[in-house]
Amino acid sequence: METLFIDGKWAAADDGAHFDVLDPASGEVIDRASDAGAAETRRAIAAAQGAFPQWSAETAYHRSARLLEAHRLMLDRKEALAELLSLEQGKPLKAARNEIGYAAEFLSWFAEEAKRVYGSTIPSSRAGHRFTVLRQPLGVVAGITPWNYPISMITRKVAPALAAGCTIVLKPAEQTPLCAAAVVQILADAGTLAGVVNLITTAQPGPVGEELLRSDIVRKLTFTGSTEIGKYLAARSAETMKRVSMELGGHAPMIVFDDADPAHAAKGAVLAKYLNTGQACISPNRILVQRGIYRAFCEEFTARAGRLVAGRGSTPGVSIGPLVDGAALDKVAAQVQDAVSKGARLLSGGSRLEEGQLAKGWFYAPTVLADVDESMLIHREETFGPVAAIMPFDDEAEAVAKANATEYGLASYVYTNDLGRATRVSEALRFGIVGINDINPTAAAAPFGGIGVSGLGREGGADGIDEYLDVKLIGQVVGPA
Ligand code: NAD
Repeated sequence: METLFIDGKWAAADDGAHFDVLDPASGEVIDRASDAGAAETRRAIAAAQGAFPQWSAETAYHRSARLLEAHRLMLDRKEALAELLSLEQGKPLKAARNEIGYAAEFLSWFAEEAKRVYGSTIPSSRAGHRFTVLRQPLGVVAGITPWNYPISMITRKVAPALAAGCTIVLKPAEQTPLCAAAVVQILADAGTLAGVVNLITTAQPGPVGEELLRSDIVRKLTFTGSTEIGKYLAARSAETMKRVSMELGGHAPMIVFDDADPAHAAKGAVLAKYLNTGQACISPNRILVQRGIYRAFCEEFTARAGRLVAGRGSTPGVSIGPLVDGAALDKVAAQVQDAVSKGARLLSGGSRLEEGQLAKGWFYAPTVLADVDESMLIHREETFGPVAAIMPFDDEAEAVAKANATEYGLASYVYTNDLGRATRVSEALRFGIVGINDINPTAAAAPFGGIGVSGLGREGGADGIDEYLDVKLIGQVVGPA
């Protein structure tokens, strides 16, 4: 299908090129997407530039109404969108429905925030003088998104950008262009002006990225993806002094203290670890368990992991989908092999799933490793797969030190029933997000983002719209009458 959306029209690539979109559960081609390059990207930037004066001059109430209509349409189309998401990305249907709900929340949240882009006045020390502060849309935005949450990662960027009065050129991941096209169709059907949202799909992110990076017209780059690519894009953005938001990788610790119920904590840990087949930036990558409950926790965790059912996302009862591609499968297998060779105990899984239909897709067994230590790859590399790495600790200070022993700083989790400890530890953890007895510390209304190599800026919450606004100071001599 034609998946470029430029200046309000769907289009094919200039040379008619397209690329295959694969079903990760079977490796089969589900459709083809348009394969754009630099020329189409330049036109999309020009369209966004052309639409900016009118879109930014619309009232906040007008922009808000368009976003609320997009919210309504997204929920109306929830079932069809969830089926597409499950097919293209692989997650179970129930998880796909949850993602659509989460994605739609950003549309309604920022529809409301559009009306709250307040300025301020500042008392001046000079008589007959005023300071006024305005917050204004910063112009054309480029948004680059990943495949793991291919719908919500788009609305998390597009909704605040449009609410602020910006226009956008979106480049989704090459694995999930169809989900992106479905979101853009919703925004078009919701009555956004032509050129406000533009979509460039490509199998070659390099040339498209280059065009977005070198453009003076693009004033902001908002990126979600790996730390490696994020560092490159941030460095290149400096050439044109673009604003950047970077939502990058993570290596979340989950600390389970022995005052917590090991069964309850293990239940939460399994849900968090295997969500989206472990392909989440906030997935617990190191599970630190206090020695007193270590054995009980490992047993409960392994029993629960063993009950997870892998398969095609649309099959009833399936709780674990495929990995995104063969490279992801290889990376996960290498981390497990490395850990086992260095002394980790394999409590469950540890191999590719190849029974029957599973052999055609990129399935890896839900895996549990105990006695993981600092020497292992899995202790420092983001896993992005269904492998739990469990390790013991003795006291609070050791747990905090171990949890913080990473250059990443996105999400972290703590299980404890001790109020003082919950406060101490959450304040000591060097992460942008801390969940206390909470495996889902996220919502459209809350600021999401990391520190360290996990990124810059926040998405969602009242902070989310600031990323798309410039602050303007007006000093004015009013003089005596
Ligand atoms: P990736 O960095 O490989 O790709 C992300 C996006 O960048 C894709 O759209 C890709 O096409 C694009 N890209 C790659 N090279 C580019 C270039 N030279 N120029 C322009 N664009 C380029 O990441 P991925 O594998 O798709 O996603 C997984 C990563 O995303 C993980 O590290 C995960 O932790 C992270 N992630 C972070 C968050 C967050 O909010 N912090 C959310 C989801 C995923």
